[in-house]
Amino acid sequence: MKLSRRNFLWMSGALVTASLAAKLGCAPEEPTEPDPDAPPEDDEVVLEPVDLRVEYADTVTQICSICGVGCGVLCYVENGEIVAVDGDPDHPINEGTLCSKGAALYNMYYEYDEKGEPVVNKQRLTKPLYRAPNATDWEEVDWDWAIEEIAKRTKETRDEYFKETNGNGEVVNRCEALAWVGSAMCNSEENYLFRKFVAANGIVNNDHCARL
Ligand code: SF4
Repeated sequence: MKLSRRNFLWMSGALVTASLAAKLGCAPEEPTEPDPDAPPEDDEVVLEPVDLRVEYADTVTQICSICGVGCGVLCYVENGEIVAVDGDPDHPINEGTLCSKGAALYNMYYEYDEKGEPVVNKQRLTKPLYRAPNATDWEEVDWDWAIEEIAKRTKETRDEYFKETNGNGEVVNRCEALAWVGSAMCNSEENYLFRKFVAANGIVNNDHCARL
């Protein structure tokens, strides 16, 4: 702010007046703590206590299934159903915190309907989806067919494209025609097995969606 001579004099006068008022006991009173027992003012919003969803639930400790960090979670279970998930404050890795994926663990299975009641998440995939070559749409297929096809096509592709040596005659034992993507929705043990499978088959195009 540009301070003119006139402004400077005005501000100095205001400061002197304020400090004099404070000395003479005219300063505004210090705010006091609100009385919790005082009746609410007319326009005051009163919050009613609500029942916690975990009130009657058992607490089961678990490890977050999403990535290799392995955070501890508390699962609140009522009548065999999870009703809420929280970070485990006693767990040495996360000490009660969860990342955004871990905090949304509950929604891997549930979502809320228009009344705010939990219902099974309709977006949850429970069957494999297959899109045939040149097709535009995905179709649901059964697990047996999908597993059989994956095994058959993996074997055919590996047999056709496996290279024992590169152009310089050096041993490489690899298959560049296959790619493998791990998943943050698989646990550490599953991803360990994926990695072993990929390496044993010479698949060098190997990646994972979680960059941790
Ligand atoms: S996804 Fe998040 S909460 Fe779950 S283990 Fe990894 S870092 Fe922890």
